[in-house]
Amino acid sequence: MGWQQRIAAALAEQHAAAAYRRRVPNRGGNGRQLVQNGRPYLNFSGNDYLGLSHHPAVIAAWQQGAADYGVGAGGSGHVTGYSEVHQRFEQRLAGWQGYPRALLFISGFAANQAVLAALLQADDRVLADKLSHASLLEAALHAPSGLRRFAHNDAAALARLLEKPISGETLVVTEGVFSMDGDAAPLKALAAEAAAHNAWLLVDDAHGIGVVGEQGAGSCRQQGVRPDLLVLTFGKAFGVSGAAVLCDDATAEFLLQRARHLIYSTAMPAAQVCALDAALTALIEGDALRERLHQHIRRFRDGVAGLPLQLADSATAIQPLIVGENQAALDLAARLRERGIWVSAIRPPTVPPGSARLRLTLTAAHRPDDIDTLLEALHALCG
Ligand code: PMP
Repeated sequence: MGWQQRIAAALAEQHAAAAYRRRVPNRGGNGRQLVQNGRPYLNFSGNDYLGLSHHPAVIAAWQQGAADYGVGAGGSGHVTGYSEVHQRFEQRLAGWQGYPRALLFISGFAANQAVLAALLQADDRVLADKLSHASLLEAALHAPSGLRRFAHNDAAALARLLEKPISGETLVVTEGVFSMDGDAAPLKALAAEAAAHNAWLLVDDAHGIGVVGEQGAGSCRQQGVRPDLLVLTFGKAFGVSGAAVLCDDATAEFLLQRARHLIYSTAMPAAQVCALDAALTALIEGDALRERLHQHIRRFRDGVAGLPLQLADSATAIQPLIVGENQAALDLAARLRERGIWVSAIRPPTVPPGSARLRLTLTAAHRPDDIDTLLEALHALCG
């Protein structure tokens, strides 16, 4: 067929399915707002759940870090890119979460790919929640091991898969808070099943860390479980970017030998680590921010209750409105934009077929009247 024809056919297919993805450049914002084509929009699509991306102490720490250490790490961690700043922050993270070790990665996607690729062998299997993030499912699909998905948040379904004997090892994979639905995993039940079958449990708490649990310590602390592998990402409540994998000492050493995304990739800049350190302080001390966010969540859910819209079972910053068909979700997002409200329509394959949605997200950076503006628009368009 030839490259050009193949690419043209793929693009035509995306269009036909109302699944064409576009990036729209904006002129930045502050978690609460963004400006596009000179017009300000209220932003209900970001992951900056506590508004820390614009926290003065976090910005100052990054600036000071850049002045002290430059803007780039200058090499991978195994060469020259790993500094005492990195080491101190890893130790602080590990201590905070009660693990012997933490390893920094430049993104959550890289962390998940690296961990699964390093750990899994051909006779192993991954048992993953059906709604796990693409970075987890893709890593499992590309691994030499088998992948089976279990019904969303269904510990009994996981148990049935675990009953089947296997010669290798089993890794159970789930999220603390699901990225597209905002609901929480039953971590205690999943951890008990995994432990009963000598399987390891990996929890990706990208959307729970900073938002739930005492002092924002996340889903695992909130539910009283300690998975074998805990993945935290820093592009959400931390307001920065990057990720960490928390684990025992031997596993950390093993990852340092085998995790290719660490070994062959430039390390996170030390200045960014300085910003993350300040963000961690703000996050731990951020009860007032969390309270504000949770007030917004209650205000939003109460306000939507009377509308013919399907709300997800979510107590977190992610409050999707399930619309169904792709085009209907796109149309509703477009009409909200006309009213100065920025929301993204999320379509398959990111979410299951027939469940296209507006993935609304709330942040402590919003003001109460921003939530009211959103509710008024939804009542006008859907009421
Ligand atoms: N895990 C989950 C659950 C996510 O939602 C995301 C990103 N949205 C990632 C991992 C990837 O993290 P990052 O953006 O740091 O690559």
